[in-house]
Amino acid sequence: MTTTLHFDQEVMNLLHAAGGEPLSTCIQCAMCSASCPAAPFMDDSPRRLIALINADLRDQVLASNTFWTCASCFACTERCPRGIDPAQLMYALRRYSIWKGVHREDLVGPDFSRRFVRTILRNGKSYEPGYAPAFIWEGGFPGMVREVQGALRLLRKGRLPLIPSRIKDLDGFRRMIGRIIPLEGFE
Ligand code: SF4
Ligand code: SF4
Repeated sequence: MTTTLHFDQEVMNLLHAAGGEPLSTCIQCAMCSASCPAAPFMDDSPRRLIALINADLRDQVLASNTFWTCASCFACTERCPRGIDPAQLMYALRRYSIWKGVHREDLVGPDFSRRFVRTILRNGKSYEPGYAPAFIWEGGFPGMVREVQGALRLLRKGRLPLIPSRIKDLDGFRRMIGRIIPLEGFE
């Protein structure tokens, strides 16, 4: 018999390896939101996002830009009086969102993350030019020109390879990554 997990249980499973106290112990004090430099740009503050998870409101959580807007500064984690780790929660929700293929369509983050992980899986290392399509039009035409000018400067200085290089034991590397994160949605 297969058991269907509630969303809040799925999130807690994703957070298991990261440590931190369960989200259910959140007292909604809002210290995380008050500490968060990115909160003004978020659909839901970190405190509210945790409340939505605890209420098992999966669709509302996945439709939020909050975890894609997080700047990973860890101020929330440092200051939570209950030992909860909201910063790791933001990472977990990004992975979950890509794994399930559910997110807001107008965000740069999901496309960028997918390209990043695919590149890492293909080469075993990063290759910056491969991410450009995810963000190059964000600043419109002037922004694109700026990006291209920056890339040309890096090319001239030999800081931007034209062809990605690969590590030797790529299969071993992919197996290791597959044990850490679900690769569905990336391959
Ligand atoms: S600081 Fe901790 S206890 Fe307070 S709302 Fe945020 S996660 Fe909950
Ligand atoms: S880690 Fe993210 S959610 Fe936490 S305070 Fe920093 S920007 Fe905000």
